[in-house]
Amino acid sequence: MKTKIIKVNINNRSSFNKLKSAAELIRNGKLVVFPTETVYGLGADATDTNAVRNIYKAKGRPSDNPLIVHIANPQDAEKYAYTNSLYYKLADKFMPGPLTVIMKSKSSIPKTTRGGLDTVAIRCPQNAVARKLIEYSKRPIAAPSANLSGSPSPTSFKHVCDDMNGRVNMIINSSDSDFGLESTIVKIEDENTLTLLRPGKITVDDLRGVCEKVNVAHAVTEELKEGERALSPGMKYRHYSPKAPLILLDGSIEKISEYLSGEDDSHTAVILYDEDIDILKEHLMNVDFYNFGASNDRLTQAHRLFYILREVDKKGYKKIFAPLPSQEGIGLALYNRMIRASAHNIIKL
Ligand code: AMP
Ligand code: MG
Repeated sequence: MKTKIIKVNINNRSSFNKLKSAAELIRNGKLVVFPTETVYGLGADATDTNAVRNIYKAKGRPSDNPLIVHIANPQDAEKYAYTNSLYYKLADKFMPGPLTVIMKSKSSIPKTTRGGLDTVAIRCPQNAVARKLIEYSKRPIAAPSANLSGSPSPTSFKHVCDDMNGRVNMIINSSDSDFGLESTIVKIEDENTLTLLRPGKITVDDLRGVCEKVNVAHAVTEELKEGERALSPGMKYRHYSPKAPLILLDGSIEKISEYLSGEDDSHTAVILYDEDIDILKEHLMNVDFYNFGASNDRLTQAHRLFYILREVDKKGYKKIFAPLPSQEGIGLALYNRMIRASAHNIIKL
């Protein structure tokens, strides 16, 4: 398939006119990759079963792993889901933004989009290009992350092209994703209860500001047990993984330094906090270091994680090491992505 590429500058409203051709493709059941504030998305008309099937095909995604439905305005959720007062509290506080809400689906969204479930995932993105595309297309847009299934989500136009050039009808070339990790996903249980299925920029504490009870699904921090049913189907799949094994080190920088002295090899990559790289560089002459940002700067780390995982992938290392982040605040999102990228390969030092 020939992929058309258009360039849309988020800071130049006059370039938004080009989105009309992208919207036309969406209306005609075609696939369009577009930027969002979390990661790039692979979009199609969420109400068009054939178009949605093509999303699964282009990604190589298992068909029981449902897609998120993107809307231009929070109140558009009425057309696709049975909302309640908690949905509007969440919408008031966090929409448009990096929050996905799971509710009982209306029949306007086909089962294929929902991976066969009775619920639907709704998100109203903040990125102005994404919103304009949804508005112009006059359709809800089903969009998973625009990566091949299993690999890290793309946060830049270049990484999108690596995976999707030739597999989709159009790619919108725009700026790097603002946040760099996928949206926070919550399921509405009742008027006062949420279950966190995937952590993101909107943290557990943020959610507790609007909802009395926020449960955290245990698959957010732990491995699913053999035969256990995942609350969110995506949790059961290998994800975000670089080709070389990623090994997470749980311990002080002194312990990490001691451990890595046995791994001082040119086939090894070490992802490390800014202030720790200088300390380790003196002892480890052969490894390549990748700067994760300052240890207390979780936003920079979120911005860099998938980018770094893709860059190290290209170099053909045999092993990749990284520190295990704390689970506090946005740290929980990093923790969740990193334990899964490592297939729960954690070394306690
Ligand atoms: P992605 O679009 O690649 O960011 O993945 C979307 C995530 O949302 C996957 O982990 C899905 O399993 C999850 N998801 C989408 N719809 C639902 C739903 N109705 N119930 C539970 N999880 C969902
Ligand atoms: Mg994904």
